[in-house]
Amino acid sequence: MDGFFEQPGETRGPGLAAAGATLTIDLGAVRENYRRLKARLGGARCAGVVKADGYGLGAAVIASALRKEGCDSFFVAHVGEGLDLREALGPGPAIYVLNGLPPGAEADAVAAGLIAVANSAEQLSAWRATARRLGRKLPVAVQVDSGMARLGMAPAEVETVAADPDALAGLDLTLVMSHLACADEPDHAANRVQLAEFERLRRLLPAAPASLANSSGIFLGSEWHFDLARPGAALYGINPTPDSDNPMRPVVRLEAKVIQTRTIGEGAGIGYGHTAIADGPLRVATISLGYADGWRRRAAAFAHFNDVRLPFIGRVSMDSIILDVSDLPEGSLKAGDMVEMIGPSQTLDEVARYSGTIAYEVLTSLGRRFNRRYIGG
Ligand SMILES: *Cc1c(COP(=O)(O)O)cnc(C)c1O
Repeated sequence: MDGFFEQPGETRGPGLAAAGATLTIDLGAVRENYRRLKARLGGARCAGVVKADGYGLGAAVIASALRKEGCDSFFVAHVGEGLDLREALGPGPAIYVLNGLPPGAEADAVAAGLIAVANSAEQLSAWRATARRLGRKLPVAVQVDSGMARLGMAPAEVETVAADPDALAGLDLTLVMSHLACADEPDHAANRVQLAEFERLRRLLPAAPASLANSSGIFLGSEWHFDLARPGAALYGINPTPDSDNPMRPVVRLEAKVIQTRTIGEGAGIGYGHTAIADGPLRVATISLGYADGWRRRAAAFAHFNDVRLPFIGRVSMDSIILDVSDLPEGSLKAGDMVEMIGPSQTLDEVARYSGTIAYEVLTSLGRRFNRRYIGG
């Protein structure tokens, strides 16, 4: 094929012989994607969003790769993710906790040097109390809701905080941020509305570096860039511009192992519920991948072998899928062979479409029992 698999790599999880599928993660591509985003950003800095274990690909490994490109700011969703990441990266890089600090997590967060994202006045005051109790200045990021209604201080709350001269007492405001709801639709009116509202809200607060753009936001234009961008998806090869060609390099490749092949006769029922019936003699192959691996049961997609497209036939099972391999020369596909599930023949974004979801969900669902190979590190 294209040499992707011939590169030396580091394996995690079960070995190739013991696993049903191999997930290959190209760290060189992650780094290349980071460089491409940085080039678009001009003077603005570029963070790495590694929540949900680096979108399922391994936060510690991904963040370490990004460190080599000079990335010094990371975003996770939960305190627990931040603690793990700090352990992996050591002191130095900024680690922001997007979902904020739940009561009781403050001590661990301070010990690990995590930066709380205060999403409400209440969270801000809890963090202020922690700083007072410890008698030291703590960094904080404030998220404002510029029009998504998910996380962040509502405009009225920002005004209240702004009017309180002690709101940031003992705190060092290192970032004012907000999140875009419709950045992947460049013509959506909300993008400009949120931009204007973010500009207004951040001016109410003391001067601090600002951050608005996720992956797709970077492609809206420089007005959305501010001081720091927060891409996740694009780093992992997900297309941040769904209406045009993917400007990013693919990062993942998923290959599943053939475990059995057979020829069935006309009228044979195929898989659970016999949702497919052979309409003539048919050659089929069963692969060692199923919905327990995060492959949607409803995702009617394809596998590929030597560029030949092999349709799924019958239902996706927990640990296996049956393929119609009639288009392959007889005997060319054997037990032990690997078929491509995500890769050059069928992209991650295509798999998402077949699954009725978005590539983010495909990636973060991919299971833990794969043979995982990291290449290009
Ligand atoms: C997940 C997330 C990001 C990254 O978004 P992508 O679309 O993956 O680039 C950035 N900011 C916030 C607040 C997020 O929750």
